[in-house]
Amino acid sequence: MNWINYYKRINNKISTLTPLYFDCGELCNKLCCQDNGKGMILFPHEKEYIDTLSTDFTIIDKNNVNTLFCTGICKRETRPIACVIYPLFPYLYEDGRLDLKKDIRGKNSCPLYYDDIKELSLQPLFRLKLFALLEEMIKEEEIHQFLRMMTDELLTIEKFTK
Ligand code: SF4
Ligand code: SF4
Repeated sequence: MNWINYYKRINNKISTLTPLYFDCGELCNKLCCQDNGKGMILFPHEKEYIDTLSTDFTIIDKNNVNTLFCTGICKRETRPIACVIYPLFPYLYEDGRLDLKKDIRGKNSCPLYYDDIKELSLQPLFRLKLFALLEEMIKEEEIHQFLRMMTDELLTIEKFTK
């Protein structure tokens, strides 16, 4: 598998997607970029693609999962998948069901976490395009296993988050 070409193709499909019809960073002064001290978790082999880009990211291997640290500013087209899809995350359940849900880690910070303000509803095309792509991506065994692991972690965080 040529992972560089794989993620190049993925990136071409999603790099221009945005959750709202306008830049949601205007709502919160890009909180998720400013408050990223814990880093952004990369998909399996995504680092190989990011390494080919011109960025000032630092990527650290934490227990075999690559975590990206940034300065809070980046070029839109170099964003890792985790940033493009935020505030959603693909939950992949034990029975194989895929669900694109609000990421629990955004509960106390991202204005888009809640659905009660109509103007802040995620644009349907954002969800649809991501879901179609993720359905294809989970066919790759390593990505499947990665999302299973992340889903279990997020479900545990959900249990302890009020
Ligand atoms: S995803 Fe949420 S936290 Fe990040 S810029 Fe948009 S509204 Fe702000
Ligand atoms: S990589 Fe870019 S989009 Fe992601 S948190 Fe950093 S500055 Fe924001």
